[in-house]
Amino acid sequence: MSLSPSVDRPRLVRLHATDNVGVVVNDRGVAAGTALGDGLVALEAIPPSHKVALEPITEGAAVRRYGEVIGWARRDLPAGSWVKEADLDLPTPPTLDSLPKSTAVPAPGEPLEGYTFEGYRNADGSVGTRNLLGITTTVQCVTGVLEHAVKRIRTELLPRYPHVDDVVALTHSFGCGVAFDSKDVQIPIRTVRNLARNPNLGGQALVVGLGCEMLRPEQIVDREGAGADLGDSGLYRLQESQTGFAGMIEQILAMAQRRLEILDRRRRETCPASALVLGMQCGGSDAFSGITANPALGFASDLLVRAGATVMFSEVTEVRDAAHLLTARSETEAVAQALIDEMEWYDRYLERGQSDRSANTSPGNKAGGLSNIVEKALGATVKSGTSAIRAVIGPGERAQGNGLQFCATPAGDFVCGTLQLAAGMNLHVFTTGRGTPYGLAMAPVIKVSTRTDLARRWPDLIDIDAGRIATGERTVLELGWELFHYYLDVASGRKKPWAEVHRLHNDLVLFNPAPLT
Ligand code: CA
Repeated sequence: MSLSPSVDRPRLVRLHATDNVGVVVNDRGVAAGTALGDGLVALEAIPPSHKVALEPITEGAAVRRYGEVIGWARRDLPAGSWVKEADLDLPTPPTLDSLPKSTAVPAPGEPLEGYTFEGYRNADGSVGTRNLLGITTTVQCVTGVLEHAVKRIRTELLPRYPHVDDVVALTHSFGCGVAFDSKDVQIPIRTVRNLARNPNLGGQALVVGLGCEMLRPEQIVDREGAGADLGDSGLYRLQESQTGFAGMIEQILAMAQRRLEILDRRRRETCPASALVLGMQCGGSDAFSGITANPALGFASDLLVRAGATVMFSEVTEVRDAAHLLTARSETEAVAQALIDEMEWYDRYLERGQSDRSANTSPGNKAGGLSNIVEKALGATVKSGTSAIRAVIGPGERAQGNGLQFCATPAGDFVCGTLQLAAGMNLHVFTTGRGTPYGLAMAPVIKVSTRTDLARRWPDLIDIDAGRIATGERTVLELGWELFHYYLDVASGRKKPWAEVHRLHNDLVLFNPAPLT
């Protein structure tokens, strides 16, 4: 990270009012004797992204970062000293069967009234941020035909329906050769079903199947004949074609056109910010993720929750080591238990593959200033802000109600994004340190860089530069508000994130923990 002279002064980031350590964000760290502001002087050289005691911390006292205890001081730490891994006794996270439940539920923030966006209202009460024709599938066999059809819909039909943003094929590799008696198979089935109900598809998703696959279209749509008033059932099985490939394309185009007519009549309406369903994710993280981008997302999450929106954070393995804090923050004991159940399920899932979560921070993490596993998990969890956790969404399930919710997903970007779409996400935000061109076809994806250097190198891929927190150009609070307003602009279609401008669309990737036959 290159700092301009005006901001190349000693910089500390303190993430929470109760923190007694700050993090040095200067590219080269600070030298001994450096004045750090407010009378604080560095007692020794402190490397970049490492911690400094903001006040005297006595032996045995709590060391706080992100407003949480990340360790207990093993010695007296005078103000201005470098707080290293060896100075901390690790707070041992309790095992899953002894986690605190709803013991530290944050009080609700003051409601934020009056914030709105322009969205597409759906019959089921949800609101779309885009107006897309979705065509879902019950098996991989149809993908080639459907892609051909989608190309023709895009070039021949879409120009006649200017109020429809795009057509999206919900293709995937599931549907056949699957052990349908497995309990876990419900995860991909409900994912496919709920993807078709994503608010951005306007309740008009078509289903294209082959005809002999194990995943039945009835499992995807509520009832056959849902579109009967349109002259078709909304389902099409390629094996019904009497006129080969040409007949298949003709049929799909005809069904698509009927739905484009309906979608094209829709207009954006002013909707309360509470209709937003934001999915948050990180990928290609670095030591700055937990210092700049994730805290800014956390601040913006709290604003959204106060505005009544639904905000999801995910990635079980990223937050697993902060489980005790999440269960304590859960609004009710039932929510805490649901969280524990998901974590337990995931532990067993990993065990089955003779794997486990990496219980220790890597040498790279430690060099980057992360002292222990709790601090690492907090850096990922900080995206969730400080609100109470209101609900837990199982993988493939749809979010119910508003507030902050934990959507239990793997951490892989596309799997997580797909499951958040199934949960009803209509807006996605993604923080990245090392950089990724990630994007989704079904919802706008906002990318936030953890460092200014990445935003400078990738000005046509990064939408928001959270590195400005490290350079001192913005505070976490200012960047959080900037994000909040940007969310509303993108949701309204007033602004388009780069992934949408360039049409960078990653494949949907289903999470299928069930065996294949
Ligand atoms: Ca991820």
